[in-house]
Amino acid sequence: MSTNDNQPASNFIRQIIANDLKDNKNNGKVVTRFPPEPNGYLHIGHAKSICLNFGIAAENNGRCNLRFDDTNPEKESDEYVEAIKRDVQWLGFEWSELHHASDYFEQLYDYAVQLIEQGQAYVDSLSAEQIREYRGTLTEPGKESPDRSRPIAENLDLFKRMRAGEFADGQYVLRAKIDMASPNINMRDPALYRIRRVHHQRTGNDWCIYPMYDYTHCISDALEGITHSLCTLEFEDHRPLYDWVLDQVKTPSHPQQIEFARLQLEYTIVSKRKLNQLVTEKHVGGWDDPRMPTIAGLRRAGFTPKSIRDFCERIGLTKQNSWIEMGVLEYCIREDLNDNAPRAMAVLQPLRVVIDNYPEDQTEQLEVGNHPQKPELGKRIVPFSKVILIERDDFAEIPPPKFKRLVAGGEVRLRGSYVIQCNEIIKDADGNITELRCSYDPDTLGKNPEGRKVKGVIHWVSEQHSQPAELRLYNRLFSVPNPDNEENFLDAINPESLEVLTDCRVEASLANPQPESRYQFERTGYFCFDAIDSVNGKLVFNRTVTLRDNWEKD
Ligand code: ATP
Ligand code: MG
Repeated sequence: MSTNDNQPASNFIRQIIANDLKDNKNNGKVVTRFPPEPNGYLHIGHAKSICLNFGIAAENNGRCNLRFDDTNPEKESDEYVEAIKRDVQWLGFEWSELHHASDYFEQLYDYAVQLIEQGQAYVDSLSAEQIREYRGTLTEPGKESPDRSRPIAENLDLFKRMRAGEFADGQYVLRAKIDMASPNINMRDPALYRIRRVHHQRTGNDWCIYPMYDYTHCISDALEGITHSLCTLEFEDHRPLYDWVLDQVKTPSHPQQIEFARLQLEYTIVSKRKLNQLVTEKHVGGWDDPRMPTIAGLRRAGFTPKSIRDFCERIGLTKQNSWIEMGVLEYCIREDLNDNAPRAMAVLQPLRVVIDNYPEDQTEQLEVGNHPQKPELGKRIVPFSKVILIERDDFAEIPPPKFKRLVAGGEVRLRGSYVIQCNEIIKDADGNITELRCSYDPDTLGKNPEGRKVKGVIHWVSEQHSQPAELRLYNRLFSVPNPDNEENFLDAINPESLEVLTDCRVEASLANPQPESRYQFERTGYFCFDAIDSVNGKLVFNRTVTLRDNWEKD
C-alpha cells in the first residue's frame, strides 16, 4: 500500500518499465492503451486498468490511447462508446489518440490474407459444434480438421467470398494453422474470422465477416505502436497466440503483453454481463444507479475522481488474484470528503420545536463556518427563527443511559446557534410527540452559558427558511461479500440497499445547488446533490457514504 501521495509505490509493472527505459528498449518510449469493449458502462474494475494505463504513460512522459475493441457488434452501441469516453475524462484522464478496432478492419483483412498466403491460416467448414468437439481437452490433444490441408489458392478464394457475402453465417470460419496438439488450447487452430451478418455501429453493413478478439487485439496494439500491452490475468494463456500472430504478420512493432490481477471487490459485482442484467431486469434504476459499481453510478452517488484514483493506487498491483474489502473504497471517499466537502445541516426526520421566548417575526442570519478545520472554505448564512426543526432521534422522552441530546427539562446546543431548553412535550390524541416547546438562552450564541457546560450539540434548520428535500440512503447492493458464489447472484441483492426519506428539510443555503455538489450533512453522512432527479422544485440528495464505517466484520 502506498502511504505517500506524491510518490507512487513501486509495483512489478513499474519495475518492468523502469528496466525497459534503462535498456532504452522501444527507443525509450512508453505507449499504453485502455481497450474497452463498448458493450456496457465502465465499472470500478476498469478504473483500475484506466489508472494503470494512463498513470504509467503519464509517469514516463509517454502516451496512452483509448481504443474501442468493437469487434462484436451484437452487443455494442454508441451509447456505451459515449459513456466510456465521458467516464475516462471524468476520472481525470485524456487520451493521446482515440481509436476503434473497426478502423483497422481493412488492415486486419490484409494481414489475414497474408497468413493464408504463408500457409498459416485456412478456411474451415466445420460447424461451431464440430470445432468444439475437435478441439480436445486439457488432457487430450485436438483433432485436425479435414479442411486443414486445403490448398492456399482455395483458401484465398473462399476467404474473399466470405467477405463478399456469398456464404451463410457460420458456414465457414478462418482459422490459424498452429498446432492441434498444443498443450495450450488457445493455440489449437483458433478462429480468426467468422461470418456474421450484423450491423456494426461504425462500419454499418460494410462487413459480414468480423475478426476475433485475440487476432484483433495484438494487431491493433502493434499498429498503434503500443510498447506495453497491459491486461488482466485471464489473458495470460492467450499471450502465446498474441505473440504468434505478431511473429507471423509483419506489423511495425511487437508490443509486450503483461498481465496483472483484476480487481475483485467485496459486496459487489464487476462483470459487465451481470451489471447489464441488473439494469435490463430493473433491479436498479440504470447504469448510473448510485448502488452500481459503475463509474457513472459512483459518480452519481457522490464519489470524486480523486477518491477512485486513490483507491486504485492504494489497492496496489500484483499477479495474485485477491479480494478487496469495500471498506477500502469507502475509506478513500471519506478521506476526500472529510477534507473537502462543506458542512451543511439537513434534518432527515423532522420534529417541530417552538421557541416560546423568541420573537414571532424575528430572523437572525447566523454565520456558520463551512468546515471546522478549514476556514478557507468560508462561511454561510444560516437563518434562525422562532420555529425550528430538529431530528426526531435527537429528543428522547425516556432517555437511554448516556444520552447527550435533548430531554424534557434538559438543555442542548443547536450547532452554530444557541442553547435551548425543553419545557413541554406536545402530543396528539394517539400519544405521538408532535412538537416541543422550548426556550432559548440569548447569552449562549457561540459560547457556553456561565458556569454550565452543555455537552450535546444537535443539528437543526429553521422551519420557515428550510427547503423540503428527498434524501436517498444507499447501502451496499449485495448482502454477501461474494455474490458470484451464490447459485444466482440476484438472490444476494440486499433488500435494504435503498431507503428513501421524503420529508427531509435542508438548510436555506442549499436551495439551489450546482449539479454534483457534495456536502457533509452534519452528523448524518456525506451526500451529493442529484441534479438528474431534482425536478419540479424537488431537491434530491444521494448518500455517498456514512460518516463512519458501520460495517462490522462478521
Ligand atoms: P467484464 O468482465 O466486466 O466484461 P471485460 O474485461 O470484458 O470486463 P473490457 O471492456 O474488455 O471488459 O475491459 C477493458 C479493459 O479493462 C481490459 O484491458 C480488461 O482487462 C480491464 N478490466 C476489466 N475488468 C477489470 C477488473 N475487474 N480489474 C482490472 N481490470 C479490468
Ligand atoms: Mg473483454
